Amino acid sequence: MKIKHCEDLNTLVSLSKRRGFVFQSSEIYGGLGSCWDYGPLGSLMKLNVKRAWWNAMTRRPDIVGLDAAILMHPTVWKASGHVDGFSDPLVDCKACKTRFRADNTESYLLRKECPQCGSQNLSEERNFNLMFKTHMGPLEDSASVVYLRPETAQGHFVNFMNCQQSSRYKIPFGIAAIGKSFRNEITPGNFIFRTREFEQMEMQYFVKPGTDEKFFNEWKETRHNFYMKYGIKAENLRFHDHEKLAHYARAATDFEYKFPMGFSELEGIHNRADFDLTQHSSFSGKSLEYFDEANKEKYIPYVIETAVGCDRLFLAFMCDAYREEISTDEAGKEDTRIVLGLHPELAPYKVAVLPLSKKEELSSIAGKLRNQLAEDFDVTYDEAASIGKRYRRQDEIGTPFCVTVDFDTINDQAVTVRHRDTMVQERIAMSQLNTYITTKLKSF
Ligand code: ATP
Repeated sequence: MKIKHCEDLNTLVSLSKRRGFVFQSSEIYGGLGSCWDYGPLGSLMKLNVKRAWWNAMTRRPDIVGLDAAILMHPTVWKASGHVDGFSDPLVDCKACKTRFRADNTESYLLRKECPQCGSQNLSEERNFNLMFKTHMGPLEDSASVVYLRPETAQGHFVNFMNCQQSSRYKIPFGIAAIGKSFRNEITPGNFIFRTREFEQMEMQYFVKPGTDEKFFNEWKETRHNFYMKYGIKAENLRFHDHEKLAHYARAATDFEYKFPMGFSELEGIHNRADFDLTQHSSFSGKSLEYFDEANKEKYIPYVIETAVGCDRLFLAFMCDAYREEISTDEAGKEDTRIVLGLHPELAPYKVAVLPLSKKEELSSIAGKLRNQLAEDFDVTYDEAASIGKRYRRQDEIGTPFCVTVDFDTINDQAVTVRHRDTMVQERIAMSQLNTYITTKLKSF
């Protein structure tokens, strides 16, 4: 059997549309550039991705959660440096007028993708602020300007004291949040890889200065373990340590994933030192010093940040999971089984209930079984087409277990469970099915 992996994003774009993972936003109006909607399966899977990250973070004894507002006081973005510095350098091709990010020039030219005309006659760089502006209240004047946040992290910093004092956690401790961010990207694209509205999952870990390097390395390892646990292939993930650092950073590493368009950033891990808390302290006039009771000392903590895009991670999981199993029978006829080999925790549905026939005697049992399973899992039900076709439909969307209700079920109260990856089938009593699937999911 030959295995083909995902080599082209278009394969996932069409699977996503066909099966209901991701749709172009406002499609019936021709779509809105680089905005996407998650459909019936995509919304389930995205929740699973978020839950996996959220649980990995907040079920530790040293991290609390936060859900901060998208709109923040405009001075937050002055203090953070975004008003003055959150910009991309742009260049234009003088021949075909294509505009793109200057920091990508080299790779675009190497790949001969830009400018479309093939010319290398480019303009000087100019800066373009990436924040979306809007107005709060009835007046659209400069005093009413607010921004759609371009990152969730500032919510963590301005709530540092609130979280620390209300939870009574001692340093080192972290704050984790999931939420929408907005960036007026110059060159969005590659499906949901770079969009103008996206979700981030960020965690800020507050540590004592001097221990920052140790925690930076620990977080690199912890995050790597997360990817391994959820089945990302080790060869598709690599670290890229930054040599050129942002003004606030003491160290930075990107996790890069091998997307079909090449290795690209998936998650950033940064040692931001005391930059953010010091800035907010001086702009707000409020002390953000932590008092270490045991040692009777005060200090502004350093911050280790882990930041990953939920949509980008969703895409990485899809790319990694997608495979085509191509087998040839004795007559030389080829057959392709498309499988989304997602980790079961991430799969939209855990179980599909498939009655062998539409006859009432089977569908009434299957309907009851569906409800029994739905008490514990996301379940789908399908009674149309041959059983072989129905198995294939489930393989393509990553459902780890298919449960077939057949005519023997009427007498033995048991069903056939078929496994997505091995296609092995087992007979299991209906009364045991929830426990059986729970155990299998845990041991995956
Ligand atoms: P890039 O270099 O790709 O623009 P960045 O270095 O600006 O990313 P960060 O500000 O560190 O990204 O944001 C953390 C994470 O948020 C990124 O690693 C990425 O997963 C995600 N992210 C950032 N911008 C976008 C976007 N426009 N669309 C989707 N995800 C994004």
